Amino acid sequence: MSSHPNLSHGRGYLAIPGPSIMPEAVLNAMHRPAPNIYAGELVDMMPPLMQDLRAIAKTKHNVAMYIGNGHAAWEASLANVISPGDKVLVPATGRFGLGWGEMATALGADVEVMDFGKQSPMDLARIAERLKADTAHEIKAVLAVHVDTSTSVLNDVAGVRAALDAAGHPALLMADCIASFACDRFEMDAWGVDIMVTGCQKGLMVPPGVSFVFFNDRAAQVRAKMPRVSMFWDWAPRANPQEFYQYHCGTAPTHHIYGLRAALDMIHAETIEGVWDRHTVLARAVWAACEA
Ligand SMILES: *Cc1c(COP(=O)(O)O)cnc(C)c1O
Repeated sequence: MSSHPNLSHGRGYLAIPGPSIMPEAVLNAMHRPAPNIYAGELVDMMPPLMQDLRAIAKTKHNVAMYIGNGHAAWEASLANVISPGDKVLVPATGRFGLGWGEMATALGADVEVMDFGKQSPMDLARIAERLKADTAHEIKAVLAVHVDTSTSVLNDVAGVRAALDAAGHPALLMADCIASFACDRFEMDAWGVDIMVTGCQKGLMVPPGVSFVFFNDRAAQVRAKMPRVSMFWDWAPRANPQEFYQYHCGTAPTHHIYGLRAALDMIHAETIEGVWDRHTVLARAVWAACEA
């Protein structure tokens, strides 16, 4: 027994990247009996939820929701556009880039890792060089992690698009925003991102359990040419369901939908730009403290 009194009091507060701190509004919204999954409120909640997620991602395009964690979104994104044997380029700046690449390898992709270490962002000039050298356009996708949580390196995703364009390369630009979504500035359409994956348990402040794949029309065209996509991972019916159950390929993540609604309402009240600004101020404060 310590001779010091235990000074902790009240609700526990664990500050890790995720699961992140869940606001009272989110917890309260989830504390309810099981809703009807066939008709009524829950069914009506989905279209505005999808619209609000698109607004935060700054995209006019599509979003598919999955019951699963970030790894599920990683696999979902790859399953819709990558066939066994396809070449994938992974510029890695920490554990998470390598992890997404390992998942592509497990799905049969031919993965080429460009490891930029743990201290600095991707070297865009080297990426552009590699893409220019691929004159046969064998590389089908570039997997870019926006913020690699293991190193906290922030990468210039728009810069990867510029490298692709400079090389005149048609590969899909796929971004992992699992750590950065609703924290760091991200603009899917303006930055030319074809596919973006994220989860609900970091910037979206909801307990782990749902994740998202955003995709544009270019990515949808690649999906349409795939010989087959497993029914569960197929993003097409989830993004454009004819029936409610197709949003989730089965039972809806009932309570997560209520939690997400509350989180999105909080983000909209502050505005996403306001959220990004607040995170920037807090980041600068931490860096300044470390310098001091
Ligand atoms: C957390 C995280 C993941 C993995 O998400 P899980 O929900 O743990 O599967 C992937 N990429 C990044 C950048 C992350 O921060």
